[in-house]
Amino acid sequence: MSQLPWHDELSAALADRKAAGLYRSPRLRLGEQGVNITVDGRPALSFCSNDYLGLAAHPDIKAAFQQAVDKEGAGSGAAHLLTGHSFYHQALEEALAEFTGQPRALLFSTGYMANLGVIDALLSRGDAVIQDKLNHASLLDGGRLTEAEQLRYPHANMDLLHKRLHNAARARHRMVVSDGVFSMDGDIAPLPDIMAHARQHRAAVLIDDAHGFGVIGKNGRGSVSHFNIAPASAPIQVGTLGKAFGTGGAFVAADETVIETLIQQARSYVYTTAQPPAVAAATLTSLKLVEQEDWRREQLQALIRQFRLGAAQLGLDLMPSETPIQPVVIGDDKKALAVGQALEAQGILVGVIRPPTVPRNSARLRITLSASHSEKDVDKLLSALEQAGAH
Ligand SMILES: *Cc1c(COP(=O)(O)O)cnc(C)c1O
Repeated sequence: MSQLPWHDELSAALADRKAAGLYRSPRLRLGEQGVNITVDGRPALSFCSNDYLGLAAHPDIKAAFQQAVDKEGAGSGAAHLLTGHSFYHQALEEALAEFTGQPRALLFSTGYMANLGVIDALLSRGDAVIQDKLNHASLLDGGRLTEAEQLRYPHANMDLLHKRLHNAARARHRMVVSDGVFSMDGDIAPLPDIMAHARQHRAAVLIDDAHGFGVIGKNGRGSVSHFNIAPASAPIQVGTLGKAFGTGGAFVAADETVIETLIQQARSYVYTTAQPPAVAAATLTSLKLVEQEDWRREQLQALIRQFRLGAAQLGLDLMPSETPIQPVVIGDDKKALAVGQALEAQGILVGVIRPPTVPRNSARLRITLSASHSEKDVDKLLSALEQAGAH
């Protein structure tokens, strides 16, 4: 194609990014997702997927997917409100409602779209949305889509949440929005406190539990269950299905009125093709494994303990996380990149997370553990971190 009129500007911005150590490119993975993968033609031990329970390539889930393709074909062919809503979508929505203990659940094609849709559909001009500053980009973007006033509070700071709620006292409606498990830090949001503040100010609460479902709570029921909050007083919950569930898509769980409102008004639900029915079929099988196989969560907890103990002995800068997201803070962007590359040279892959995904001077290795890792894998990771100079 011909060059854009502002081609030079873009290409200068790309060069600046490279010089700053912020340039990113996707790698090519061959074969199944898992712990031992082939990336860019080389074998690697991966600590950077969100497949926390090791379900992405589970044989039962693959079989469920294949059977559904035989019955229903590859694509859904239309949006849910036209003819895209299949038997498998309906069954999965019912199963997810039961799993969360909420009256209804609604499927979205991705978590990003669920967050855009739910915030935009429930708030409008004259309302206020109050978000933790470290919330996932899709929540912040969802807030920006609405004409509601945007307020943010420093990470997990309940005094400032209280202040923001107070500042928003004259808004028509208020909604507090938070990750359940923070995607880059791994810590769990102080949900009981958030709920108490919200109640006091007659605010709604929306919890995005992308990294909580499957991983924490009774039978993997997420952060609401982790804190023993009864479903009847639970916040609106968003869950993604591409992480611990190992498939793809997302859902919102809430009461009848919220879900019916989303069906009418959430633009990222209405104006998009339903996910392929086979993905929903695969998720139905995955949901059963998530609920039944507690050993996966037990294995994760054992690996988390092993990693944190070993990392502390190496003097690494850990964060207060009890989840499979175990960041090691490096600080400087280029040093983080160099440590990431040194690990890769030893055949170990971790996420190297730099601004703007995380705050300035907090570049980090985002290490994620999976139930498919072994104790030996974690030993290898620890010795590679030592050699790579991660402290
Ligand atoms: C990954 C993630 C999303 C987006 O979900 P996708 O299904 O990948 O689009 C939303 N929120 C949080 C906290 C996430 O980590």
